[in-house]
Amino acid sequence: MGCEEIRELIDGYADRELDLVSSLSVERHMRVCDVCNRAHHNLQALRSLMHDESLYFRPSAGLRKHIRSALRADVKIERNMRLASWRWLAAAASVALVVIASLTLVQRTKGPSAEDLLAQEVVSNHVRSLMEPHHAVDVPSSDQHTVKPWFNGKLDFSPPVENPADQEFPLVGGRLDYLGSRTVAALVYQRRAHVINLFVTERANDQRGATMETVQGFNVRHWGESGLSLWAISDLNAEELEDFGRKFEAAQRGGA
Ligand SMILES: [Zn+2]
Repeated sequence: MGCEEIRELIDGYADRELDLVSSLSVERHMRVCDVCNRAHHNLQALRSLMHDESLYFRPSAGLRKHIRSALRADVKIERNMRLASWRWLAAAASVALVVIASLTLVQRTKGPSAEDLLAQEVVSNHVRSLMEPHHAVDVPSSDQHTVKPWFNGKLDFSPPVENPADQEFPLVGGRLDYLGSRTVAALVYQRRAHVINLFVTERANDQRGATMETVQGFNVRHWGESGLSLWAISDLNAEELEDFGRKFEAAQRGGA
């Protein structure tokens, strides 16, 4: 074998990767060839150098600690970020719950409006007056000129005491009552055997069209006129109560 062929095998020889025949050929050549022998020596020297520990970089204990804590901090930050997003989600979820709960509460507490509550009071006042006939009127009179002055000094306003269609809805009298925590005028009218209570209260800006509703089996007509709020209630049928309301309103406007 010539030097060139041997050089190609020297790497394999140094790594002990050659078959027995090739290894023996390389050894035989190197015994007689200084150049190839030196090449092999250099290769071996290089390899042993590469195994030399001093060639490897050994970080100092301080540096090692620093790198480790830097890596740990990274992991921690990532974990914290994950935790933070969970916390944020949890917070968002509880806020959402509070919002839902308060919306439900608002809806529940919203329930009956102030108007509905007044209508309820109108009903209970009416029922009470029917149950205690002797308290139904404080000033029993079919004469509006007797009833109207009776309220003077008892109320902050002067209630309209009309006598609409005398024969159809005779005035029975008037009394003081309470509605929405205020002292109000209650005028009592009659239609055959049916009693009509008309509550008159002062409520600014209550200019409104009439509404007719049925509350607890009673017909209630509500309207506003000249800064007054009026509630007529009876077990009369809605048509007749409507008729009463319209005639009262007409007289109210005509008399005012
Ligand atoms: Zn050689």
